[in-house]
Amino acid sequence: MSSFTTAPFNVAIVGGGIAGVTVALGLLSRGIPVKLYERAECFHEIGAGIGMSPNAERAMLSLDTRIHTVFRNFATPNTEDWFQYVDGFYDSHTGDGEDLMFRIYLGNRGFEGCRRSDFLTGLAEMIPENCIEFKKEVISVIEPDCHINDDRKSVLYFGDGTVAEADIVLGCDGLRSKVRQLILGVDSPASQPSYSHKFAFRGLIPMKKAREVLGEDKSSTRYMHLGHNGHVLTFPVAMGTILNVVAFVTDPGDWPSKERLTLPATKDEAIRYFTGFGPVVTSIMEMLDDKLDKWGIFDLFDNPVPSYVSNGGFIGLVGDAAHASAPHHGAGAGCAIEDALALAVLLEDAAVMLQKSSDIAQKKRVLQAALSSYDDVRHERTQWLVRSSRFIGEMYEWQVPEISNDPVQSLAEAESRCRKIWDYDIDGMIKEARGLFATKL
Ligand SMILES: Cc1cc2nc3c(=O)[nH]c(=O)nc-3n(C[C@H](O)[C@H](O)[C@H](O)COP(=O)(O)OP(=O)(O)OC[C@H]3O[C@@H](n4cnc5c(N)ncnc54)[C@H](O)[C@@H]3O)c2cc1C
Repeated sequence: MSSFTTAPFNVAIVGGGIAGVTVALGLLSRGIPVKLYERAECFHEIGAGIGMSPNAERAMLSLDTRIHTVFRNFATPNTEDWFQYVDGFYDSHTGDGEDLMFRIYLGNRGFEGCRRSDFLTGLAEMIPENCIEFKKEVISVIEPDCHINDDRKSVLYFGDGTVAEADIVLGCDGLRSKVRQLILGVDSPASQPSYSHKFAFRGLIPMKKAREVLGEDKSSTRYMHLGHNGHVLTFPVAMGTILNVVAFVTDPGDWPSKERLTLPATKDEAIRYFTGFGPVVTSIMEMLDDKLDKWGIFDLFDNPVPSYVSNGGFIGLVGDAAHASAPHHGAGAGCAIEDALALAVLLEDAAVMLQKSSDIAQKKRVLQAALSSYDDVRHERTQWLVRSSRFIGEMYEWQVPEISNDPVQSLAEAESRCRKIWDYDIDGMIKEARGLFATKL
């Protein structure tokens, strides 16, 4: 429980995706004033479904129970407690289309999916209107000189010519983060994401149709259909009325657009890419709409971000801005919520510490220590996620030579990596963050 009513500092949040919105809610519920700047006209999520792993749900509960309630309101239960990984490529030995390669226990109500837009809109409705400004594209941020002992703040410059100030700036501006470019330098390799040489066809199939073709079991729970140079994830969303499909393929070439990460595609193209796959995957492709989107899978694997905090210590990176990962673990948004939690508890501790102090130098030291502790507690885990996401995507497409399509080795790798994500000790993270913060001061 906070021992202050309003923190003696304010926070600017750049970007209103899952990272920005959850940070905002976590800080506001702890009495820390925030202003969220989003370049679009309203909150929006492109893409269809999103799954939330168990660690993400635990982080939501610690951050603000209302976040978890929103997720639960929209979460679509899997009918199975197991994540099923099947051979989507070779003919089945059992006659039902695909052989089970391995499965991983999800637990009761583990890793359920919802429609992205439902989740984001539900969260955004809880942020007071006066804490949000739309159509505000951040083009620059100037950090105060940390050696000068006055109360100057960071200044944010927007595309419409306006400016704003804040003690702390959090870049929650996604894969192609402007804030990351600003703090690392535009020429730093880590300022730009790189193409993972995979892209995904994404589609939604009405459940009635999916059930007729795939049967009850394959349409009502999480399945990963594995194969040579491609893999397909399916899970129910929208309270079981829709089957979400994400069909990944390997692409040795370059992504054809510099500006756009999503491009129009067709069902015929998807069918072509999955030629040679077994009957279940083929029938999934055939059920897709004639016109689709394909998403280039970009991440920060090739040039890892060395630190999530600026040199001056008052600007931080959160979510994809810090550690955009290929989506093969389905954990990017969950890890963004973990980031939000770490920041919320650290800035809450900072507010408690500064409540009775009017010493400007002390305020700067405390805020710098909070952000630096955030970097310490989040960097290793989230950088591992970036690396592991690439690995597991290759493993699902039988591209790791020493594993290929061996089910025993695949299970061992997938299970240990998923457990590292799903079983993360959220309370331990909070304790570690607070310990680091106390030590720095
Ligand atoms: C195909 C696919 C499937 C996925 N599936 C899952 C899954 O099942 N589970 C999971 O946990 N994760 C999943 N992920 C990852 C997840 O989608 C991301 O990690 C998460 O959405 C990142 O959220 P974010 O808020 O950091 O960034 P974003 O969602 O990109 O939000 C950034 C926001 O910042 C705004 N913005 C950008 N620049 C500026 C600027 N200069 N000024 C102001 N505003 C700005 C943008 O308009 C946007 O609203 C998946 C990703 C993909 C590609």
